[in-house]
Amino acid sequence: MGAQTLRVGTRACISAAHYIKNYAGKCAGLHGHNYVVEAIVEGRPDERGMVVDFVELKRLLAEVLSAYDHKVLNDVLGTQNATAEALALDIARRLRERLPEGLRLRLVRVYETQDTWVEVQESPE
Ligand SMILES: [Zn+2]
Repeated sequence: MGAQTLRVGTRACISAAHYIKNYAGKCAGLHGHNYVVEAIVEGRPDERGMVVDFVELKRLLAEVLSAYDHKVLNDVLGTQNATAEALALDIARRLRERLPEGLRLRLVRVYETQDTWVEVQESPE
C-alpha cells in the first residue's frame, strides 16, 4: 500500500440568522450570514475508481445543511452563542452520522464571511 491518501470535497451555501449573546462585537444582535460550508471526506477508491460519487457527497451535505438553511442558528443549535465554531462542530457531527461505510470525514470548514472561517479537523481513528 502506498502512502497516498485520496480526499474528496464539496462546498455548499446556506443563509441563516444568528446572535452571540456573550459578545460585544457586531455579531451580538440578531442578523444573518451567507455561510459557505466545505466538507472533505477520505476513503479508498471503489471499483469505479471513486472514493465517493460527487453527486452523493453533495446530496449528503445538502441534507445536513437543510437543518440550518433560513433558520435561526441559535434555535437549531440550542445555544445563546451560535458561533461559527458551534455550527461547524454540529455540521461535522451530523455529517459523520450519515457517511456510508468506508468513508471518513476529515474536515468541515465554515466560512462566516469570505475572509473568516472555522474548521473542524477530525482526528484519525
Ligand atoms: Zn454574525
